Amino acid sequence: MENLDFYKSIASTIKYPSQAYINGKYQDAISGNVFENINPATAEVLGTVSHCDHLDVDIAVKAARKSFDNGEWSRCAPEKRKEVLMKLADLIRQNADELAVIESLDSGKTITDCLDEIGGEVPDFFQWYGELIDKTFGKVVPTGEDAAAFIVKEPVGVVGLVVPWNFPLLMAAWKMAPALAAGCSVIVKPAEQTPLTAIRLAQLAEDAGVPPGVINILPGFGETAGEALGRHSDVDVMSFTGSTEVGGYFLKYSSESNLKTVGLEMGGKSPFIILDDAEITDDLIENAVSSAFWNGGQNCSANMRQIVDKRLKDDYLHRIIKLTESYKVGEPLDPNTDLGSMITQEHQQRVLSYIAKGCDEGANLIAGKNGAMDREGYFIQPTIFDNVDPQSTIAKEEIFGPVLGVVTVDGMDEALRIARDTEYGLHATVFTKDIGRAFHMARHLPVGTVGINGFTEGDIKTPFGGFKKSGSLARDNGTEAMDQYLQTKTIWFNL
Ligand code: NAD
Repeated sequence: MENLDFYKSIASTIKYPSQAYINGKYQDAISGNVFENINPATAEVLGTVSHCDHLDVDIAVKAARKSFDNGEWSRCAPEKRKEVLMKLADLIRQNADELAVIESLDSGKTITDCLDEIGGEVPDFFQWYGELIDKTFGKVVPTGEDAAAFIVKEPVGVVGLVVPWNFPLLMAAWKMAPALAAGCSVIVKPAEQTPLTAIRLAQLAEDAGVPPGVINILPGFGETAGEALGRHSDVDVMSFTGSTEVGGYFLKYSSESNLKTVGLEMGGKSPFIILDDAEITDDLIENAVSSAFWNGGQNCSANMRQIVDKRLKDDYLHRIIKLTESYKVGEPLDPNTDLGSMITQEHQQRVLSYIAKGCDEGANLIAGKNGAMDREGYFIQPTIFDNVDPQSTIAKEEIFGPVLGVVTVDGMDEALRIARDTEYGLHATVFTKDIGRAFHMARHLPVGTVGINGFTEGDIKTPFGGFKKSGSLARDNGTEAMDQYLQTKTIWFNL
């Protein structure tokens, strides 16, 4: 990792991408409209970006359909798609510093997080799914001698991908890599707050050999480009990551258009449970604090409900406060910074209103001094509430900022009951030394991922997604992600 001056010098020379990418060409929106792109850490305008709407969606869908039907990508030998995706992974690694700086300026995320994602996970996804392509087999069906039957997997066709701002390029890669590996043509709508890295990625994909029309990037707003994509009758599958409210809209768009399949990855309010037999180690404290405040708490699986047995609470509280107060909040391009800014001023105000609500509802503010910071940009100090009522607003709603609430419990049964009492079901963490209790908790928590004795979202090999209002049956990551982008066909021969 280099130092602040190094990343600032990259920032000073960057030419920000600004146009949509459709059918292999960068171009303005048909309307000619643009929107401002703001650096949330300074409140300065970085530049303007094409504001795509239904007209651009329509030409992008046509280009995607044409590319899908001509078969240059969808029906090419698997080795060919593999070679291109592996090359794309290499190009992302070679350009990781520049992409990470763009992402940090665009989102207020720390350069450390951006580099971890863009230098590591993002290219790894393209490589992993590239490597999977020529190892994905169909099945031969048992029949009598008068027949032969096969079950084959085929790409679904044109796929719309709508992604959020909290992990801009990573969320795009989670979806693009398996969709492209499957042979689909994609239209990506990045979040309006963070369109830049997805636009830049299109150039690298072109350089890697992805044919025109297979990848299209449409910067724009949810109500314009997002809705038009969700409602388009020639989009076969939509895969969405974002809020539960907007996820619901995509089901409506589908039911009012062509009944396209919709995959949803949505919000969370994840519990971090410390049972009475756990040991409060430095590792546990590090997990408690980083799982809450990583990415400024703007993380769907952030462990914001910390459910702690009363026998261990004093030691735990004392130590999480100490670690939290050591976190450095500020300049995102400085590798020593732990927390960057909130994504927008509006979001900062929303998070601050939750902090005020926590105080009004009687929770005890023990770290964070009322949240806001006296500096340019949209920063919030990491904040901890103790004595949080499990039925209060800050315990129930997804805040999506650095606001951790501690709920005290007496025994495992109460911990489990409170952990389950939420409309979300994305993730949970449990600390215990007892393997039997670990299994009991894991089996009874209605969530897509459970970490035992450590916060984890799993890795590239493990499916990620939510139960209840956190997701649909679709999963990102692992071989399961391919299921969103492949359909099953039976071919039966009478002999
Ligand atoms: P959001 O739902 O506001 O926006 C997500 C995307 O949907 C953006 O591209 C946006 O432009 C688009 N959109 C917004 N309104 C739309 C509309 N009316 N029609 C069509 N598209 C529309 O979410 P966000 O604020 O960008 O992201 C934060 C949310 O994402 C949180 O709830 C978080 O938990 C969730 N998230 C979930 C996961 C997961 O894997 N489950 C991962 C990251 C983030």
